[in-house]
Amino acid sequence: MRCSLSISSERRVLCVFPAYTPSFGTFAHAFRLMYRVRAFMPPQGLLLIAAYLPASWPVRFIDENIAPAKAADFAWADIVMVSGMHIQAPQINDIAARARAKGKVTVLGGASVSGAPELYPQYDYLHIGEIGDATDRLIACLDDSVAAPAAQRRFETNERLPLSDFPLPAYDLIRLNRYLIGSLQFSSGCPYRCEFCDIPALYGRQPRLKTPEQITAELDAMLAQSFCPPVVYFVDDNFIGNRKAAREMLPHLIAWQRKHGYPLQFACEATLNLAKQTEILALMREAQFLTVFVGIETPDAEALKAMRKEHNASLPMLEAINTLNSYGLEVTSGIILGLDTDTADSESRLKAFIDLSQIPILTINLLQALPRTPLWDRLQRDGRLITDDAGLESNVRFLRPYDEVVATWRRCIAYAYDPERLFARFTHQVDATFANRMVGPVRGKLTIANLRNALVLAFNIAFRVGILADYRRPFWRAARHALRRGQIDAVLGIGFAAYHLIEFSREALRGDQNASFYSTLKRERKLESQPLRKSA
Ligand code: SF4
Repeated sequence: MRCSLSISSERRVLCVFPAYTPSFGTFAHAFRLMYRVRAFMPPQGLLLIAAYLPASWPVRFIDENIAPAKAADFAWADIVMVSGMHIQAPQINDIAARARAKGKVTVLGGASVSGAPELYPQYDYLHIGEIGDATDRLIACLDDSVAAPAAQRRFETNERLPLSDFPLPAYDLIRLNRYLIGSLQFSSGCPYRCEFCDIPALYGRQPRLKTPEQITAELDAMLAQSFCPPVVYFVDDNFIGNRKAAREMLPHLIAWQRKHGYPLQFACEATLNLAKQTEILALMREAQFLTVFVGIETPDAEALKAMRKEHNASLPMLEAINTLNSYGLEVTSGIILGLDTDTADSESRLKAFIDLSQIPILTINLLQALPRTPLWDRLQRDGRLITDDAGLESNVRFLRPYDEVVATWRRCIAYAYDPERLFARFTHQVDATFANRMVGPVRGKLTIANLRNALVLAFNIAFRVGILADYRRPFWRAARHALRRGQIDAVLGIGFAAYHLIEFSREALRGDQNASFYSTLKRERKLESQPLRKSA
C-alpha cells in the first residue's frame, strides 16, 4: 500500500541510488559481454520507498550504476532521496554534495544510515530503520516544507510496516533490461546471531514475510516489461530464515512458473543447513533455483564456533555442498580472512577447501567490523577498532600481522582465480550440479529479446574469452565438456562468470581493488577520479 496521509503540497522527488565499487560478486566486468546491461540488480529498498510516496508526488529514479544523475535532474527536484549500504558510503556523501550544491533538501535512508547515522552529517534528514511510522512522519514534514532545516533531523522507525503491506516496488520507474538480474524480497530478518553481521540488529531475528500473492504479483510486474532479466535474485537475508514460510511459498512460485511456461530462474542466499531441508530443496529445484549464496566464511569448525556461526557446521560442510549440488544448486560462497582464529595454516586449509568443495565463485574478503554488530562491540572494548582513516584495508586490528593477512588474501585469490583451477571447478559443476537441474519447458524463455541477448553474449564470449583471452584453452576445455553433455547455457554461464572473476582478480592483484569489500581505500580514490560525477 502507499502512504495514506492526506497531502497538501506537490513535491518532486529525485531518488538516486549510489554506484557500487566493482567486487567479485557484482560481475561488473562481464557487463560488456551483454546487450545493454549496465548494473547488477535493481535496488529493492529505494524502489519500495518510491512506490510508498504519495501518489500525487512525481518521482524520478536514477540508478548511478547505470548513469549519473544530471544537473537537470537535480534542478527538477524539490527533494533528493538516497539509500545505500556501507560499501557505498563515499558515493552516498558525493550525491549529498551535488544535491546541496543545487540547493536541494536531502534525505538519506537505508541500511548504512540505519547502522551508522553519524557517518552522514551532510544530509538534512535521516530515515533510520525500515519503512514504517518514521516514513510517514518524514513525508508529513516534507509536505509541510522543503526548506533545509537549521540542523539535521532524524526520523527513526518504531513501528515497521508489515511486509504484507509493502507496495509493489516501483519497477515502472526503471528499465529492467539494464540489469544483469532481477531482485525480489520475500522476507526480512534472520534468526541467527553471527558475530560480524548487522542483519539481526537492523532487521530483527524473527523473519517477517510477504504473502505468496505479493511475490507472484511482483513477478507479473517484471514480466510485463519488454525485457525482464532471466534470473531473479531473492535478496532475503536468509531464504530459510523461516523454513515453514519458504516451504509454503515455493508451490506458488512453481505454479506461477508453470502458468507462464517457466520464463525465469532464481537465486537466493541461505545458511548451509539448507542441505538438511530436502523438501525445500526439491521444491527449489522444481521452481528452477540455480544458485544459492552461502556465507561459508571459513572451513574451520572452531572458527565458526567463535563467530557464532555453528549452524554452518551442523553437518559436514563438503557433504552439505554436495547435497545442494545434487538438487542442481550451484553454491557460491563468502569467505573471510583476518579472523582472530586464523593461524599460519589457515591459508593452506582454505586452498584445500577450494579444491575439495569445487565451488567456482568465492568472494574472499578481509574481516571488517560493521556498526551494530557484536564484533564491533567486542573490538571496541578491546581497543582493536581502527577508527581513523589509517589507509588500511580493514578497520580491524588483526591479531596476526597486517601485511601477512593482506598477503594471504592476495595468495588466496590468486589461487582461487587461476584460470586452470577456475575452469576445472566449473567443469566439475557440469556433472555434479548442472546435470541435476530440472529440464523444464522452454516456452516462457523463447522470446525475441532472450534470443537476441543470448546471441550477443555467445558472440562476445567466443570473441573475448574464446579468441582474445590468454585463458582461452582452459575455457574451451570446459566448454567442450559442457557441450558434450548438451549444456549450451552452461557454456555461456561459465564464460560470463569466469571472464569477470579472472579480470577482477587480476585487477585486485595489481592493487587496483580492495581486499575488504567494505574498505574505502581505493573507492575514495576512484570517486575523486570521476569528474563526470562531481560536475554533473
Ligand atoms: S546467518 Fe547470515 S544473515 Fe543470519 S546472522 Fe548469520 S551472517 Fe547474518
